[in-house]
Amino acid sequence: MNQPGGPAGGDLTAARLLLRRIRTVMARNLPAQRRLEEIVRTIAGAMVAEVCSVYVLRAGEVLELFATEGLKAEAVHHTRLRVGEGLVGDIASHVRPLALADAQHHPQFAYRPETGEELYQSFMGVPVLRGGRMIGVLVVQNRTRRHYTEEEVETLETVAMVVAELVAGGELVGREELSPISGIGVLPERLDAQALAPGLALGTAILHQPDITLTQLVAEDPLREIDRLDDAMTAMKLALDELLTENDGGGGGEHREVLDTYRMLAEDRGWANRIIEAIETGLTAEAAVQKVQNDMRARMREIQDPYLRERLADLDDLNNRLLRHLLGMQELPQARDLPEFAIIVARNMGPAELLDYDRRRLKGVVLEEGTASSHVAIVARALDIPLLGHCQNLMDKVQAGDSLVLDGDNEQVFLRPSEDILQVFATSMNARAARQETYAADRNLPAVTKDGVTVDLMINAGLLMDVPQLAATGAAGIGLYRTEVTFMVAPTFPDVARQRDVYGRVLDGAEGKQVIFRTLDIGSDKILPYWQRDVEENPAMGWRALRISLDRPAMLRQQLRAMILAAAGRALHVMFPMVAEVDEFDDAKGILDLELQRAEAKGQVLPASVRVGAMFEVPALYWQMEEALDRVDFLSIGSNDLAQFVFAADRGNAQLQGRYDTLSPAFLRLIGDIIKAGQRRGKPVSLCGEMAGDPLDAMALLALGLRTLSMAPPAIGPIRAMIRSLDMGQLQAHLAALGAQRGVDLRSSLRAFARDHGVALP
Ligand code: PEP
Ligand code: MG
Repeated sequence: MNQPGGPAGGDLTAARLLLRRIRTVMARNLPAQRRLEEIVRTIAGAMVAEVCSVYVLRAGEVLELFATEGLKAEAVHHTRLRVGEGLVGDIASHVRPLALADAQHHPQFAYRPETGEELYQSFMGVPVLRGGRMIGVLVVQNRTRRHYTEEEVETLETVAMVVAELVAGGELVGREELSPISGIGVLPERLDAQALAPGLALGTAILHQPDITLTQLVAEDPLREIDRLDDAMTAMKLALDELLTENDGGGGGEHREVLDTYRMLAEDRGWANRIIEAIETGLTAEAAVQKVQNDMRARMREIQDPYLRERLADLDDLNNRLLRHLLGMQELPQARDLPEFAIIVARNMGPAELLDYDRRRLKGVVLEEGTASSHVAIVARALDIPLLGHCQNLMDKVQAGDSLVLDGDNEQVFLRPSEDILQVFATSMNARAARQETYAADRNLPAVTKDGVTVDLMINAGLLMDVPQLAATGAAGIGLYRTEVTFMVAPTFPDVARQRDVYGRVLDGAEGKQVIFRTLDIGSDKILPYWQRDVEENPAMGWRALRISLDRPAMLRQQLRAMILAAAGRALHVMFPMVAEVDEFDDAKGILDLELQRAEAKGQVLPASVRVGAMFEVPALYWQMEEALDRVDFLSIGSNDLAQFVFAADRGNAQLQGRYDTLSPAFLRLIGDIIKAGQRRGKPVSLCGEMAGDPLDAMALLALGLRTLSMAPPAIGPIRAMIRSLDMGQLQAHLAALGAQRGVDLRSSLRAFARDHGVALP
């Protein structure tokens, strides 16, 4: 390896030779410390470096010098650096390599006199990783200023994989010290999280540990390893096809799209080529897969872009799958025998990994990472598996076998909960299950009050997979189809054909029931991953919804064109969000008219009827009510945004939650006025914000005269039950009597009314 012309790290044969030498050292019957010393000597020689050292992570987040060639021997087991301290600590904290020609002038350089390292100017270090965790740092140093090549960094990373096996062997430091769970508690703990798929779950923690320990890292015959890789790839793809076909549900939709994208990733040549390159350096096929996986994980730590992170998470999942095939372990070992109530705990997961688990036993999932648009969340929602994400420090706090409560309603996780908490949740889950059964059984009963007032209950939807909820809940239609959700889960901006397909399938699935398509409502908290936007100081009051559509008319035209094509021969309902001035509605409707004319000119089949509405979300519309009602075919009150603007209270700010009540006189007076104005002009008014799905709020809205409410599908059952047990006349009389009194807390009063009059509330 010490060829003329300098270090030979970039040469494939050289890397292979180095690995072979290290394998000989590993095979020798020596204590681990001695083998480590031999290894650093071998690396220093092969890489023509004066220094090679290994630092090992000890308890308390400290990196201890364990072996060195070139630094002073007395520093071994004495020199210690905190994670984050010095260049070594920097590599450990960022979990990424560092190569510097002039290390001593780097701001992170921390001089340790006992090592004698002042002699060495250049420095290259890589993290020692095992199972995705940093367990040490491997360093080489040179006396002269020199630039290390990318290939040399790669070689050092490859060698670090072997060092990792030695460190993790348990001889150098106890295994418990290397365990990811340090200082773990046994006490109950509550962690905040985000509900990414709704629901409650209770069960035993199963750590999703796809990481596999490899024993064979170095191989003699790269061609044989490439053959093994090919076989494993083929087997993996076949098994994956089977798994995805089984779970396709036949329905299609975004859930299917996510899984198809995943399947396409498995065909990615770039991924396979990188593994082959690693094999050519002398690694076994499985070690090569792990090396590529380590590189990807390092990249993932740096990437903020949610779309790219999702793709890398999918690839991480594929790497694990391929590893299992290479090692002849077709299934996730822990997926085979789940306890009866299992809760999967993971840092992150790919969508297909979720499908590996036995659905009858899997009760919930909690992730340290994950976002609402992450693929695993989309699949979890489709399968109705409660999933909480964004749970900080989860992996450091939970141990396999811990009992867990996932409380999606309050976005929290209870770790090792006390008996009391377990009891409370078990009771509430049983009650919930019983209620769900009743709601399902009653789904075809009409939503009519005891005194004969009929109410139209509609669902809010945003994904194709929501559409079957129409039949499941017995709702009368889709009162709000949030078209932006399709845009948010797609990898790129959906074109007309793609949009037409989605809208067409929504209409097909609705089987003649009314569907109100709301045009794109992006901006504010609804971000498209592929669309870079400027940071706004007040995004909720910023460039969003109809404002964007009017400023980018091509986008709106495409969307309306797709809706017209999809509706062909059927009724089309279009609704514009965030109308602040009637002119905006006119402009948007003008674009719709143009698209209709265009469709007619092209001889397309037009929609059977077209109704155009506006969302009442911006208070300014109140003072243009008559003009607005003249123009629209219908109005839908978006109480979420309307309340945020009426009370000047950010709807996403947790500190303001509950501060202003939607049942306050000011807000109800406003809603009452809108309803009355609609009645005067004979224009239908409905409400599609969260209020519609809250039984107490809904009682007040019905008393004010609303007869159409659109809500999240799970709210339909409770609202129908409330309506069927309500006497509208009595309620209106009760509220009229209250109207004369001052300082009444309407929420408490409605609750008391419900209790006294047998109105069913959950
Ligand atoms: C609303 O603002 O009430 C509404 C229904 O729209 P979104 O929640 O999608 O903003
Ligand atoms: Mg809104």
